[in-house]
Amino acid sequence: MSRRGKPLLRHGAYSYYQKKKTGFTQVMSRRGKPLLRHGAYSYYQKKKTGLKTSWVCSTHHPKGCKGAIVTVESEIIRLNENHNH
Ligand SMILES: [Zn+2]
Repeated sequence: MSRRGKPLLRHGAYSYYQKKKTGFTQVMSRRGKPLLRHGAYSYYQKKKTGLKTSWVCSTHHPKGCKGAIVTVESEIIRLNENHNH
């Protein structure tokens, strides 16, 4: 972590700062609900508490899929990729 709280990566004599955040994109579904795309899966917003948003698998959550993501602002803080499909 840098003094300003930004994530830094140190490698040898050099340090690198994070330019691009973890790869997900937020889109709007046809019904106007926020959806999150990460890899091959998409997630719908299940719960929002303060800055934290919980997302669950948008296609198979009702079928017991455990795939879920928790984001804070535009960063993934928890990722569960145990999809059952
Ligand atoms: Zn899933």
